[in-house]
Amino acid sequence: MGAEKSLTLIAGSETAPRVPGGRLRVLDRFSSPAGLALRTFLTRNRVPFEWIDIDADPLARFLLGAVAPSDREVEDRLAGVRLPVLLLADGRRLEAPSRLEVARAVGLPTRPTQSEYDLAIVGGGPAGLTAAVYAASEGLRTVVLEREAPGGQAGASARIENYPGFPEGITGLELTRRTYEQARRFDAEFILVNEVTAADPSAREPFRLILLDGTELRSRSVFLATGVEYRFLDVPGVAELTGRGVCYGSQVSEAFLYRGRELFIIGSGNSAAQAAVYFARHARQVNLLVRGDSLDRSMSQYLVRQVNAVPNLSVRFHTELAAAEGSDRLESVVLRNHRTGTETRVPADGLVILIGQKPYTDWADGLLARDGQGFLLTGPDLPPVVGRARTARSARARPTAFRASSGSQWPLARPPLLLETSVPGVFAGGDVRRGPPKRIASAVGDGALAVQLVHTYLGLHAAADARALNGAGVPKDVAVGAGFLNQLAS
Ligand SMILES: Cc1cc2nc3c(=O)[nH]c(=O)nc-3n(C[C@H](O)[C@H](O)[C@H](O)COP(=O)(O)OP(=O)(O)OC[C@H]3O[C@@H](n4cnc5c(N)ncnc54)[C@H](O)[C@@H]3O)c2cc1C
Repeated sequence: MGAEKSLTLIAGSETAPRVPGGRLRVLDRFSSPAGLALRTFLTRNRVPFEWIDIDADPLARFLLGAVAPSDREVEDRLAGVRLPVLLLADGRRLEAPSRLEVARAVGLPTRPTQSEYDLAIVGGGPAGLTAAVYAASEGLRTVVLEREAPGGQAGASARIENYPGFPEGITGLELTRRTYEQARRFDAEFILVNEVTAADPSAREPFRLILLDGTELRSRSVFLATGVEYRFLDVPGVAELTGRGVCYGSQVSEAFLYRGRELFIIGSGNSAAQAAVYFARHARQVNLLVRGDSLDRSMSQYLVRQVNAVPNLSVRFHTELAAAEGSDRLESVVLRNHRTGTETRVPADGLVILIGQKPYTDWADGLLARDGQGFLLTGPDLPPVVGRARTARSARARPTAFRASSGSQWPLARPPLLLETSVPGVFAGGDVRRGPPKRIASAVGDGALAVQLVHTYLGLHAAADARALNGAGVPKDVAVGAGFLNQLAS
């Protein structure tokens, strides 16, 4: 599928990092999962780069020092190169770099500049970005820790049409870029890729967070806005071909890969519909695979209308994927009609999987209260302390899904604030929180509300809570202190 031999992506944005020396080149094979991950990472972080396919562009061999008289010698020389290769204009060359190395090489911020903050926001999706705008504009020393790129899931959305104020719709990358720039203008600090890996359990007021490279960051409060991640599809061939024609989520920047090609999309929700409509502008044919017999129950009406109106987009009902096949990259898919049981093998150039999400909270097991699906419990949803605030009636009233694992109940006599988790001073909002609809506007609302609650916490409770948790009056089994982030590195 290597139709395009090189591609330049320009990310015209005020906050685009200035790549040292200017031009950045990425060299790899088209079918490389690591190359896809690197392109996605750079695009989502608005870093301009030139992509060069080493199989199609002779310049690549020259740049890699692999010019030789025969194809065999070229291959031998290339075999000694670890791909992808990043070439910086100042002459540096990075082979198969880690994301932290890439981030540093292209000038993304990866280290804190201050020794202490009022609010550390974990996650830079719509909830985290909004909290950053309000917190920084209201004078809180604010830092956002984002492990991939600002924007979160919303940044991957091809077209958002239901966010208030944008009647013509807006791409997720553009919407979140604006919020990111707004937060930066108010002096919110961003630390990218260098994520939180641990916390000092003995410390609170301030909390002490340890980053990937060992740097310590102290903050008087924390807002967890870590969102959700894609559900994986357990079907033969999918794991092996992921990044080689099969992908999760709809990376708008990859649309050029589908020009004139046959694409399959699995999913019946709004994000699958958006992706199908968007990719149909580039692909020869898009096929939406849906297990049920209708789109109406799972998709917004405006998207159902759009899907039905696109001539080169067909919906295959009662259909599921039985296998993805190909040697080096995806070549065909096997589709099963689950009413008749018949299986059909059809050629395929691309397969996009959008079958829902689950929260990023395995790390919180036993540390923060969660529901049965892993969403974080906050405020009034929190189970009260066993044997103290809890009564027979309140125990009966709570559904099983709300019960938290031991060590994650609310530990203080005062009630938790609205978005406060089972660890006082640690708030959660957006998709990771149990309750709100999984929408950008809800995440934005949580981000704004969280800042007001942080003011209340810092002004009224922080010092007293620290005293209470360090000693008097807290039952041992619930005094989890600040051990909440110990496993954030999951
Ligand atoms: C393809 C697609 C299309 C969509 N279209 C729409 C739409 O049209 N309208 C709509 O209203 N909603 C839409 N949604 C849903 C919407 O994007 C989400 O509801 C919204 O992004 C949730 O925001 P959030 O900030 O809670 O979480 P997320 O957007 O999930 O952001 C969480 C961020 O936290 C980061 N993170 C996670 N763990 C860590 C960690 N340990 N350290 C540091 N960072 C971490 C992640 O990298 C991510 O950037 C769409 C979603 C998808 C996937």
